[in-house]
Amino acid sequence: MTTAPARRSVLVVNSGSSSIKYQLVDPSDGSAIASGIVERIGEGEGTVKHEVGDAVTRRELPVPDHGAGLRLVLSLFDEVGPSLADAGIVAVGHRVVQGGPLFDGPVLIDAQVERQIDELAPLAPLHNPANLTGIRVARELLPDVPHVAVFDTAFFHHLPEAAATYAIDRDVAAQYQIRRYGAHGTSHQYVSTAVAEFLDRPLEHTNTIVLHLGNGASASAVRGGQAVDTSMGLTPLEGLVMGTRSGDIDPAVLIHLMRNADMSVDDVDDLLNRRSGLKGMAGENDLRAVHQLVEDGDPAARTALGVYTHRIKKYVGAYAAVLGRVDVIAFTAGVGENDDIVRALSLAGLAPLGIELDVERNAGRKKVPTIISTDTSRTTIVVYPTNEELAITRLTLQVVES
Ligand code: ADP
Repeated sequence: MTTAPARRSVLVVNSGSSSIKYQLVDPSDGSAIASGIVERIGEGEGTVKHEVGDAVTRRELPVPDHGAGLRLVLSLFDEVGPSLADAGIVAVGHRVVQGGPLFDGPVLIDAQVERQIDELAPLAPLHNPANLTGIRVARELLPDVPHVAVFDTAFFHHLPEAAATYAIDRDVAAQYQIRRYGAHGTSHQYVSTAVAEFLDRPLEHTNTIVLHLGNGASASAVRGGQAVDTSMGLTPLEGLVMGTRSGDIDPAVLIHLMRNADMSVDDVDDLLNRRSGLKGMAGENDLRAVHQLVEDGDPAARTALGVYTHRIKKYVGAYAAVLGRVDVIAFTAGVGENDDIVRALSLAGLAPLGIELDVERNAGRKKVPTIISTDTSRTTIVVYPTNEELAITRLTLQVVES
């Protein structure tokens, strides 16, 4: 008699400064067995949303800290289901934004790893402390399963020196650990690997430009599965125009504002991270709203869309030069998967580079991997939905099963 294989699952946790996002993932097909989010932690009234299939449970109650938030999540798994034990939980995978110079892949978390994530906080002051808080409470509340840290920077750890180094005084760079670490690495790695498989191409002979366009946005150049350049730098501020971040800017703008506009370090930080990008230029950070404004004839929104897509095009051109030959361009994340206007404007006029979008194939939102280039395009252009939770699940299992 044969018995059915035991069910297995991984709990993926993404802990932010005032939120905890989670997903219980079935690694066999990447489906979410359950998922949810605790928001407004430490802000008086908090909210919890727990989804299992189509059933959504919502609670509104004070969530004083991350420990209380995670206890709430675990009680929902007990009350509403599915029970973590029945779902065969084998590990918890934690998203950690900054692995700095220390981590080039996922690691099993112990006290030393916790200390190292803490030490890297100056490089990611908004993210690493919040990630670490989530790790600490999760290890306390789920002590019987291994916990793995999956770093957003790891895929870019081995960028070629010429791509990773800032052209500043090398002693200053060394003392303050200043280099280009990149971000969104889990998504870039997942998409560049999965798209080669989707196209039935050998990964080691495939050159890919990945355009991860969400609220945060980044581009990468991947040669044979290895990242050779990426647009985010020391922090996720560099590179493409984003929802609220400027992306590339002349550093002298900061100097000018600090000298002449009486702006402090915090003012400049706030300007570039929260009051710039689409939000700064058009007043809206969501592209759907920006398109509506453009339709209504708003000149600032038209400028914003132009700046946004011009920047993407410049990176595509730069990475075509870095790679020499571009086999695949993959669009992913909220904008990349849903916004046919952005995709079309970003690649307009690139036919001389062998990059030809097919207008009809490009039209509309794409929920599944879809080729959107013409049959004659030298570069295959694909929309490939990212799945960061599945990517974290796979990397987590790699660690616990090795
Ligand atoms: P993040 O994970 O970085 O928060 P997402 O990958 O979820 O972001 O992307 C969110 C963004 O995707 C939104 O801000 C919006 O600009 C864009 N977006 C989502 N749906 C659509 C759509 N149907 N059309 C155009 N843009 C969309």
